[in-house]
Amino acid sequence: MPELPEVETVARQLRPALVGATIQRVLVKDQKLSDLLAWELEGCTFVDVTRLGKQVVLSVSSGSQAAYVAVHLRMTGRLIWDDGTPLRTVQFQQAALQRPPIEKHLRAECVCSSGRLSFFDPRRFGTIQVTADYESLRPVGLDPTTEDFTERALVKLLENAKQPIKQWLLRQDRLVGLGNIYASEILFASRIHPERLGAALVTDEIKQLRLQTKRILARAIRHCGTTFSDFQDSTGSVGGFQRYLKVYNREGEPCPRCGALIERIVQQGRSTFLCRGCQQ
Ligand SMILES: [Zn+2]
Repeated sequence: MPELPEVETVARQLRPALVGATIQRVLVKDQKLSDLLAWELEGCTFVDVTRLGKQVVLSVSSGSQAAYVAVHLRMTGRLIWDDGTPLRTVQFQQAALQRPPIEKHLRAECVCSSGRLSFFDPRRFGTIQVTADYESLRPVGLDPTTEDFTERALVKLLENAKQPIKQWLLRQDRLVGLGNIYASEILFASRIHPERLGAALVTDEIKQLRLQTKRILARAIRHCGTTFSDFQDSTGSVGGFQRYLKVYNREGEPCPRCGALIERIVQQGRSTFLCRGCQQ
């Protein structure tokens, strides 16, 4: 499932390709996405592509009218821009992932002057919302890549956190965009045991948690995200950050820091990877 770094990657890659392109035709193959047709997007020009929470937001305008097309990729959604040039070479891809999108999974498409933007989504959990009100798209949770993610803000958020910190990190109404992979990695880097209660963390641990969250997200964005199951960016490539994962999916391997064996525990049905040597 694409998390914050993967969605950011898609937005960054689409931006230079899309900005300036004019929509000529909108095709909707899946009636769940009929919101796209309620708006007259044909004739509109893409003016920006950004990430807001875990959504890719395509800003379009036509004269003085502005609208925002917010795409939530969910589990398996992919936005692919095709302007006729071959897709970028796949660098880190596992064999099973080297597959082009399949026509029957196409749910919607924008045909533009300079190419076409297609939304593929085999499992159909992805959503597209069109609105004139950008603020209404803002997620409830705090975006940990923004300046608002201060130590004070994190202290405040954790004050009444009666959940284990790993589960808390996955709550999108607290911090937006951290998934299972990044939560394990952040807690390992911060030397915090995933079963500690959020509210029990002391000042130094909260400091570390904030710093490591920012550091790991920035690094993952630099490497175009992490590919574990279905994520591919808008050029059909996959992320490279999985090569830098320290504990995720490494059960039984030695901890890169202390040599103790990495363990896997299950919290709320999800795997958490940790080193008991480093995370006590
Ligand atoms: Zn260790």
